[in-house]
Amino acid sequence: MNNINRKSTLQAGEVALVGSGPGDAELLTIRALRFIEQADVAIYDRLVSDEIMALLPKECQRFYVGKEQAKHCVPQAEINDLLVQYAQQGKKVLRLKGGDPFIFGRGGEEAEFLLQNGISCHVCPGITAASGCTTYAGIPLTYRGVAQACTFITGHLQNDGQLNLPWQSLTCSSQTLVFYMGINTVSSISEQLIKHGRDANTPAALIRNGTQPDQQVFRGKLSSLAELVVTHKITPPTLIVIGDVVNQLTDTALTKPGFLEAKNYQMQLSENVS
Ligand code: SAH
Repeated sequence: MNNINRKSTLQAGEVALVGSGPGDAELLTIRALRFIEQADVAIYDRLVSDEIMALLPKECQRFYVGKEQAKHCVPQAEINDLLVQYAQQGKKVLRLKGGDPFIFGRGGEEAEFLLQNGISCHVCPGITAASGCTTYAGIPLTYRGVAQACTFITGHLQNDGQLNLPWQSLTCSSQTLVFYMGINTVSSISEQLIKHGRDANTPAALIRNGTQPDQQVFRGKLSSLAELVVTHKITPPTLIVIGDVVNQLTDTALTKPGFLEAKNYQMQLSENVS
């Protein structure tokens, strides 16, 4: 890592808007880690794992501004002000967010606010939940001949309390769908997709705490997603994946997050043959 040219120097009075990935610290980028190590102040969200928080310098000040669904701990305007305030004090400010800051993370809004207030901002991508969690669950988002497209969608209700999604454009069987923040609206998601023509038997999965040691993966069908949530009492953070890719590789070879065991895979193959 020391041989990799350093481009990520955080100056006093600047902010680094950094994606921390879905949880496993090994999924951090080198750039993210370098910003983390330079921070005087860290303003972080709920989805940043403890393992990653432990990488901050000891003397770094920490502010939790996490949001839980429908319950905003700190309003966005206050988060914005906090970032500006610490940068103006000449601190090296780290804004640490789960996954990728520009994917359902309001990173765009924060960067805009900083720039409007004369604060320069480094931006650093993270592995987004759709990529990290599915891969650690052994689900390839695309697969030749099975899924040629993949769409990331928010299942969070809009301000009018509705899920206003272009359902018609989500019904193609060769398109994988990944819903973020969809656990509370899962029954509408299934109903609408089926109503608009997606096959009710389409394989589907729920991935809770993806990439973390306590990752849980529940597989079922589009029509049984809501039931899975109730039966297993599934709570956020959970990702919903819908599409034939869900069972493409295997459902038994995954023996721990991010590890596919050949022995189990071959056993499953021979059972399917006999
Ligand atoms: N910026 C983040 C997404 C924030 S929205 C990213 O790029 O990943 C929050 C939603 O992301 C959660 O409700 C959940 O649907 C999903 N999510 C994030 N991390 C997750 C994880 N480790 N396991 C499962 N879902 C996760």
